[in-house]
Amino acid sequence: MPYSGWPVDRRQIDASIVRAMEVLNLSPKAPPGRFATEGLQSFYWQFARSRIDRLDVMRFGRELLAQRPENTHVLLDASATHIGLSADGSRFSHVDVASINGKRARIEAQMCVLAASGIENARLLLASNDVHARGIGNQYDVVGRYLMDHAAARVGRFSSERMTSVAKRFGFFGVSHKGRAHMFMHGLALTPEIQEREGLLNAAVYFATERAPDDPWDALKKLLRRRSTNPGRDLLTVAAGSGFIARGIGMRILSDERTPKIFKDVVVNTAIRLSPNMVADEFQSRGLPHKLAGLRIEAICEQAPDPNSRISLSSRRDRFGVPLARAEWRLNDSERQTLLRIAELSRTALTSAALPTPTLEDWAVERRPQDIVIIDMAHTLGTTRMSASPRTGVVDENCRVHGLPNLYVAGGSVFPTSGHANPTLMILAFAIRLADHLNSELTGP
Ligand SMILES: Cc1cc2nc3c(=O)[nH]c(=O)nc-3n(C[C@H](O)[C@H](O)[C@H](O)COP(=O)(O)OP(=O)(O)OC[C@H]3O[C@@H](n4cnc5c(N)ncnc54)[C@H](O)[C@@H]3O)c2cc1C
Repeated sequence: MPYSGWPVDRRQIDASIVRAMEVLNLSPKAPPGRFATEGLQSFYWQFARSRIDRLDVMRFGRELLAQRPENTHVLLDASATHIGLSADGSRFSHVDVASINGKRARIEAQMCVLAASGIENARLLLASNDVHARGIGNQYDVVGRYLMDHAAARVGRFSSERMTSVAKRFGFFGVSHKGRAHMFMHGLALTPEIQEREGLLNAAVYFATERAPDDPWDALKKLLRRRSTNPGRDLLTVAAGSGFIARGIGMRILSDERTPKIFKDVVVNTAIRLSPNMVADEFQSRGLPHKLAGLRIEAICEQAPDPNSRISLSSRRDRFGVPLARAEWRLNDSERQTLLRIAELSRTALTSAALPTPTLEDWAVERRPQDIVIIDMAHTLGTTRMSASPRTGVVDENCRVHGLPNLYVAGGSVFPTSGHANPTLMILAFAIRLADHLNSELTGP
């Protein structure tokens, strides 16, 4: 969605995206488009793989612990409870922290980067209202507003008998780059032309496998944990699925710490090249192969920024006496109309490409967008959005809180709009750009 208040030069952020991709261990090579039709075109999600555990996806905590940067000090069990300003309110001065067992401390610093997530960043700025009565950076009542997530909905499905050709075309595949196989998932996104022509938001669909109710691993787990309500049936399921279970045991051996890394690398890279769908399934199910019942079409939609969708302070307080956040997440007609349209376009596109026709959800068949069951994606964005003006945003182009020279914000809360893509890559790109800025502030350009 176009945004008129955007203060950043596109080329500058592109350079940070390249560096964020290196940090995330991603391939810079974009796969070529494989599907294009009226209104929809190929879109790829790339899955960041861990450098430490070849069989896992990227988890930042483990990567950080493995590197242990010497100039970084991590203070655990220290919740920030208050951001302190100088008496005249013109500068950041300190952060108050508290631990669960009652310890309290004050950290004074030259600068502060608030990176406590989309909800907590706004909450801390609003709750730190001892100097500025409306909270920090909130002279125009913008902190907490424009709360966005990605509106997600199931739009249709294929039965297990009809799913194979679709799963092949839109499943996972591997791309080789510098001797490593990188995993991509192929989906479909709305073209910019149709968004503009029909006034739609940005949105995409992807295809997710459904686990069968008679999945042998589930049955075995229930039996082992003595939670089976029907042990006879579960035993039969386990016996019938012994092939799946043998594969699972193979994955367990592969994920064993004692198995040499070089062996794992060869196996995983080869597997991604030869059978990426199988590998993706292994990652998602943490190494346990499952019996599949079908393929779902899932949509993920951008959210239009709405000032009435917001985080504010509750009258209830947490154990440290800080007001809790009250979330008022608003979904509007534009998200519902976009989800309806992408459901219709997906059905037409797949059918005209000679792929099986999906069974759409009732709301899509009967054109009832008000009945779409929408869930969030845990992508909380936008509550301290970036803008050239403090009237429409909380931080400037350097992620600095308007009006305060030494207080910054990092994370998804600085996004002014949400797009439809998962946010971590852009969050990291902005963080790298912010780190460069702080470096030049401290040491000169
Ligand atoms: C299950 C799940 C799966 C996801 N999968 C993906 C995915 O595949 N791809 C993708 O791009 N995104 C994904 N996301 C979204 C992604 O994780 C978030 O968008 C991203 O982590 C947000 O980054 P952030 O820095 O804004 O906040 P966070 O990552 O939430 O970091 C905030 C940190 O601040 C700490 N904190 C909060 N309040 C305080 C306080 N008062 N004092 C001290 N510390 C505090 C929190 O403990 C946390 O560690 C997923 C999210 C979830 C929940």
